[in-house]
Amino acid sequence: MIRSDIDLQPFNTMTIAARADYFAEATSLEELRVALDFAREKQLPILPLGGGSNIVLTGDFPGLALHVALKGLKLEDLGNQTQITAAAGENWHQLVMHTVAEGLGGLENLALIPGNIGASPIQNIGAYGVELKDSFHSLTAMEIESGALVEFSAEECRFGYRDSIFKQDARDRYLICEVRLRLPHQWAPQVSYPALQQYFAANSVAEDTLKPQDVAAAVIAIRNSKLPNPVQIPNAGSFFKNPVVDDAQYTQLRQQHPQLVAFAAGEGWKLAAGWLIDQAGWRGFEREGVGVHSQQALVLINPGHCCGSKVVALAMEIAADVKAKFGVDLEPEPRFYPGV
Ligand code: FAD
Ligand code: NAP
Repeated sequence: MIRSDIDLQPFNTMTIAARADYFAEATSLEELRVALDFAREKQLPILPLGGGSNIVLTGDFPGLALHVALKGLKLEDLGNQTQITAAAGENWHQLVMHTVAEGLGGLENLALIPGNIGASPIQNIGAYGVELKDSFHSLTAMEIESGALVEFSAEECRFGYRDSIFKQDARDRYLICEVRLRLPHQWAPQVSYPALQQYFAANSVAEDTLKPQDVAAAVIAIRNSKLPNPVQIPNAGSFFKNPVVDDAQYTQLRQQHPQLVAFAAGEGWKLAAGWLIDQAGWRGFEREGVGVHSQQALVLINPGHCCGSKVVALAMEIAADVKAKFGVDLEPEPRFYPGV
């Protein structure tokens, strides 16, 4: 089951060619344990892999790339809500489409996010004002060190904006095996984002007639119209998180740049990182096979299937330029392996 010296290009949507010393695909808990035993014995670091849509391979991985391919999906009616139990290797978008086809609301704004269920809690995936945490109930993970199964409640996951305990204190300590979501039968559409408002206005759809399936269809149409499909143009989605700045910095920036795109976020302000990069002049930029998408400057693209170091070099150049022009730090959203 464990293979050596494997090319990871088919396993990341940036299509970066990099090799892993070892690779395994686990379709059961038992196979996961066997793979972990192997890595422990050889003292190898582990790279858990789902759909590979939120990673950047900066070089060869000197350890075990472990494709978590557990399958299984169950829907249970709990009276006023439906519980969904999904194994880590199930595809996220297919799950969303399955729920909306069943008439269940709650996940429709998260349609067309690439990747698998297992990664969805890692950064608390979100889009169009909805996050995984809004429907999340609990998950089961395997501790990498011991192979023991551990339960995490929503509170224990410490979800934040594109963040969770799995990016912080519990980083590199668990393999997520199963996620449980709960969708209340009482549903109201979340369509506050301008893009959704404009879509429904343009298609003469009244908000009070909306069904989850209609919102999913709108999200899919909008995303298809402006975001690059990784199958055609390699990318890892938003390359940077939207930075959150304090009131003083926001006020100063707003004075200098009246068109600044920003939204109140807790006690601070969330700035649209895509707008900053666009204003800095990077949208549509391309150099030696790597570049910035022409319709969404937050997405770095890799049409030349270049190595990770080229992608990271461009990202660092952009971040430094944004810092020089706006005084704002940009933090990458995807995880870099083996690191920079
Ligand atoms: P991977 O890329 O395989 O892994 C991501 C991270 O999770 C890695 O650190 C990996 O080691 C870890 N991991 C994966 N599986 C497990 C597991 N079972 N246990 C433990 N750790 C694991 N994200 C959003 O939030 N919102 C969006 O709207 C959005 N849109 C996107 C659009 C495009 C075109 C692309 C390419 C990406 C987009 N993303 C978005 C980012 C990405 O799709 C999500 O982060 C997704 O959850 C990643 O899933 P994956 O299975 O591909 O994860
Ligand atoms: P968009 O609709 O053009 O919006 C630009 C930015 O403004 C987004 O980053 C969004 O923040 C913010 N925004 C817009 N309306 C808002 C509101 N009413 N309240 C608070 N914030 C608002 O963005 P887009 O690039 O086309 O993406 C659409 C959605 O898909 C966004 O939610 C985005 O996060 C998500 N997406 C994520 C990825 C990824 O890889 N993480 C990739 C593609 C798309 P938020 O990002 O916080 O929503």
